[in-house]
Amino acid sequence: MRRILLVSHCILNPYSRAVGLLREEKVKASRRIIGALLQDLETGVIQLPCPELLYEGLGRKPAARESYDNPEFREICKKIADQAAKIAAEYEREGVRITAYLGVEGSPSCGVEWTHFMTDKPEKGRGVFTEILYEAMSNAGIKISLLGLPEKEKYGSLEELSRKLEALT
Ligand code: SF4
Repeated sequence: MRRILLVSHCILNPYSRAVGLLREEKVKASRRIIGALLQDLETGVIQLPCPELLYEGLGRKPAARESYDNPEFREICKKIADQAAKIAAEYEREGVRITAYLGVEGSPSCGVEWTHFMTDKPEKGRGVFTEILYEAMSNAGIKISLLGLPEKEKYGSLEELSRKLEALT
């Protein structure tokens, strides 16, 4: 059965990252995961827009979740999330399953299990965008798994993520 994954923008395009966060090992990790996914001819990938880029542009400095948890940023996230939910609903009507969202662990916006609330110390929790996207999908009646790309050992391993991706139906 054909399936589609929604992915955070920078997993495919690392140049959207905040200043100083573009690192070769991170790019390699995301390319490995996406490369393996695209080997499956039944799998499609939708790259979502980067909410932080739309909010503060490319010159932004890395910041914690508290800098993004405000009405203006939430509105940007909501627009992206509502559009993604609309597209997802259209695919599902045509029999293509939207199975998961692949976010970026540790991100104040796209973190799934890990984010940075106030400091540079990672904590368990969801990023602002992930939270809003999940809500938009639920409101549209679409059940998706939330998975995060682990860019540090603390967040998990690529092997573990690959197993979860393979297990998606
Ligand atoms: S906001 Fe999301 S898509 Fe944009 S750089 Fe951060 S993790 Fe990537």
